[in-house]
Amino acid sequence: MSDFQDSQRLFERANRVVPGGVNSPVRAFRAVGGTPRFIASAKGPYLTDADGNEYVDLICSWGPMILGHAHPAVVEAVQEAAAHGTSYGAPTRGEVDLAEELVGRTPAEKVRLVNSGTEATMSAIRLARGFTGRSKIVKFAGCYHGHVDSLLAAAGSGVATLALPDTPGVTGATTADTIVLPYNDVVALEETFTRHGEDIACVITEAVPCNMGVVPPTRDFNALLRALCHSNGALLIMDEVLTGFRASRSGWYGIEGVPGDLTTFGKVMGGGLPAAAFGGRADIMDHLAPSGPVYQAGTLSGNPLATAAGLATLRNATPEVYAAIDRAAALVAQTATEALAKEGVPHRLQTAGNLFSIFFADGAVEDFEGAQRQDTKAYAAFFHAALDRGVYLPPSSYEVWFLSAAHDDAALERIADALPYAARAAAEAR
Ligand SMILES: *Cc1c(COP(=O)(O)O)cnc(C)c1O
Repeated sequence: MSDFQDSQRLFERANRVVPGGVNSPVRAFRAVGGTPRFIASAKGPYLTDADGNEYVDLICSWGPMILGHAHPAVVEAVQEAAAHGTSYGAPTRGEVDLAEELVGRTPAEKVRLVNSGTEATMSAIRLARGFTGRSKIVKFAGCYHGHVDSLLAAAGSGVATLALPDTPGVTGATTADTIVLPYNDVVALEETFTRHGEDIACVITEAVPCNMGVVPPTRDFNALLRALCHSNGALLIMDEVLTGFRASRSGWYGIEGVPGDLTTFGKVMGGGLPAAAFGGRADIMDHLAPSGPVYQAGTLSGNPLATAAGLATLRNATPEVYAAIDRAAALVAQTATEALAKEGVPHRLQTAGNLFSIFFADGAVEDFEGAQRQDTKAYAAFFHAALDRGVYLPPSSYEVWFLSAAHDDAALERIADALPYAARAAAEAR
């Protein structure tokens, strides 16, 4: 059992001045119990907490750190940018460079930079409504698109983890135009378009749902979605905030090739700093102010430190980096299922390219309802046993396990050593 007194003291202080002691709910360990570790530093695949304990990191800041922590090229780019001033409120070369990088890799013809994935999806939906002149939006249960009011209905991980069916503070009027459908349900989708087709501005979907655990689209689901949108005059918004530049250099689009009319990006493209974007067809994007009537703005949008970190990350994300992530993910997934199988813990590995999660349940998971049938008690024991052995898993069984190109043999061995012990703890907790 590692010593974590400093984390405990910091958590007590935090609870006095910050709701729940954290600035984003899933960090608080509510789903697994215990004291969240306060992180003091990170390097490559490792996190070090306030007490000096070191962990192999399987969260990677929930996705962004594909090169590992404190990658020299990223650190240098940020330091150099900071020395030139941290924000101007006027355009910069870095914004053009980053926009070109995004446009070069994705179906987007034009992009607008923002500060978070939430802002990207919120703005994309406003634009879709402004462009089509329609009000209704369709989302899928279990898909998370940030904490946008109109999208906080059946919204996956963070909300699911806390078992909030809905959130107070979002009015009925705000979600009245949101239609929530079960994921992978083609019949429900067709019926919805038959009934509301002329009112639907857009369908928003995660390119691959990763926020209820990984639930891959059934064959042709995304293509059908696109076809249905277009035959009804609606737009398709592909949310690639999580998958973008992680699943491949072009995100999930690079694997499946179904373009959204609009796509949202975040996480990896900020290289660990707050940067996100939404983009798409030029004729749609030109509806944004100042070229069009749909208002959208941001004091710190395209911030020079964030664009520097994002550019350094994307430019160093070589084919070798993706090959390393693919390899590490496959190995860790296999090691985990072997350990769990050996202890007789019912589980289900689901993968989509290099993205994977492990459901603590039997059988295939195709939608949010399936994802909710999990033994969360067994997962909590699994999580804490791994943490004791220096492996930092996501503190919720609804999350992807994130790897980076920095997860070398030494880090992977540490994971392989910890997982059998964690699997035994899960077996005992059932
Ligand atoms: C993380 C995430 C968001 C929200 O991004 P934030 O930067 O946390 O606001 C939106 N969509 C998806 C698919 C995500 O995974």
